[in-house]
Amino acid sequence: MTYVITRSCCNDASCVEVCPVDCIHPTPDEPDFGTAEMLYVDPDECIDCGSCVDPCPVDAIFPEDRLPEHLAPYLAVNADYFDWVGETPDPALPPSAGPKATEQTEPLRVAVVGAGPAGWYVADELNRTGRADVRVTVLDRSPTPYGLVRYGVAPDHLDTKGVSTSFDAIAGHKRTEVMLNVSVGTDVSHDELLEHHHAVVYATGAATGRPLGIGGETLPGSLSAAELVSWYNGHADAASLPVALTHERAVVIGNGNVALDVARLMLSGPDALTASDMAPAALEALSDHGVEEVVVVGRRGAAAAAFTSPELRAIMDHPDFDVVVDPADVGDLPAAVEGEEHTAASYAAHQRADLLRAASSATASGRKRLVLRFGLTPDAILGESEVTGIRMTPTAGGDPETIEAGLVVRATGFRSTAVDGVPFDEEQGRFAHEGGRVLDPGDGDIVPGAYVVGWAKRGATGVIGSNRACATETARAVLDDYVAGRLPEPASPDGLADRLAERDVTVVGVEGWRAIDAAERQAGTDAGRPRVKIVDLAELVRVAGGITT
Ligand code: NAP
Repeated sequence: MTYVITRSCCNDASCVEVCPVDCIHPTPDEPDFGTAEMLYVDPDECIDCGSCVDPCPVDAIFPEDRLPEHLAPYLAVNADYFDWVGETPDPALPPSAGPKATEQTEPLRVAVVGAGPAGWYVADELNRTGRADVRVTVLDRSPTPYGLVRYGVAPDHLDTKGVSTSFDAIAGHKRTEVMLNVSVGTDVSHDELLEHHHAVVYATGAATGRPLGIGGETLPGSLSAAELVSWYNGHADAASLPVALTHERAVVIGNGNVALDVARLMLSGPDALTASDMAPAALEALSDHGVEEVVVVGRRGAAAAAFTSPELRAIMDHPDFDVVVDPADVGDLPAAVEGEEHTAASYAAHQRADLLRAASSATASGRKRLVLRFGLTPDAILGESEVTGIRMTPTAGGDPETIEAGLVVRATGFRSTAVDGVPFDEEQGRFAHEGGRVLDPGDGDIVPGAYVVGWAKRGATGVIGSNRACATETARAVLDDYVAGRLPEPASPDGLADRLAERDVTVVGVEGWRAIDAAERQAGTDAGRPRVKIVDLAELVRVAGGITT
């Protein structure tokens, strides 16, 4: 008997740490870790002990004999990985360590700005290394924690959202303070944070859509995925977003996992949506609308699609719609060839290719349709007063094609937002950095005391667990600088709460968040849903009771 890792794997490697026989790969110290779509259990090495199950924050691991039917293919997906890569390669990265603070009299104080996955992972790394006595303050402009997990992960991926339980444990650390509903740059400046801390780590994510720079992007009916995702996840900023859902067709530009999320949720039936934690207004709008077909368009060929195979596999099994792929589009897909490199990345490419070939030969059932198109570059979003379609040209050259649609969603990546007082690389849409130390993009100099982690550092790439290795690097930079005496003592280590109180900022702490969480879950129980999210900011703060611990 073996254990099996399935779709919701977040790559955070909690399972790797506890496996007594090293049967889960790639591990964070193996070169393939960064390019693997998920982690895999080697069935020949697994001793059936089940140690990996509990630490998995997203419930992705099952014993083979209790695999749910829809996840049954993962038995082969796990085993085939080891057939494909053969011997697991030698570790490439040195273990995370470094000298300890020797003459420390006062604790190292670090402000982490952003309570999403990267923020929690960096807080955890700072606390766990034992190199210094550390106090972490985690701040977020929202009255709720978890960032991307609450406002980015698709609302029907409740297993993935389960990762928040591991963040709760970090938030409960006795030397960690949580200050939600505090906007850095507005309520308190970067320089002021440095009066209370040795270092400030920006874990502010990437929450804004990248514009394409084509005509029609500002027409009603043209949205960025960032806006749409915020709307259906109940972010206050997008509460009144107008979403055009009357035309029978919608187009999504870009074919990463976010594009698949958006398309899947537009085509899911009311049962699937009710079982999600989608915001009430979006649930109502998406449960009954006119869109019958969503066309997801990639500018490159099928072999270069940006989605991952677990996400493609999940939509191919979906009860509410067909996945349609033109057989002409799968001609360039890779088939295994002698001499090719057997890596996690090539394994992923073959997994995607096999699934796309299967989709291209599937028989249509007459349900709603998720159409995957490839090799088309968007020229212009069309319409006078609202979107009526999109014009695209084959990327390899040829005549333009127009697709009629009432909604066009740009799922073409995300940008981070600048914070007043901290240099920002506008061109890249993120903070410039060296190993997690923020750089001024003007002169390339290190900005003393400023660090960055997560999507604000790497750009919008990778799954939730990718942030752990990223956080290790940033935490190490902070600790190295502290131990080397490069971080001046803060002038007023305990003064932040008083400063915020003087400004009438209502800080929401862990207890306040727990009150929100309990109220949302209770409303969910009453409505037969996992949770009914509170969207209104004032209401969130009211329910939190202004409790500040
Ligand atoms: P992504 O994977 O980078 O996909 C972006 C897509 O936009 C690509 O298809 C890209 O095409 C296309 N694009 C970019 N610029 C374009 C342009 N000017 N014209 C046309 N197309 C353009 O990004 P994402 O989907 O936003 O996801 C962000 C990260 O979150 C990814 O790492 C993703 O895997 C992760 N994520 C994971 C999950 C999950 O595991 N369940 C869910 C959601 C997101 P090219 O490839 O040709 O550049």
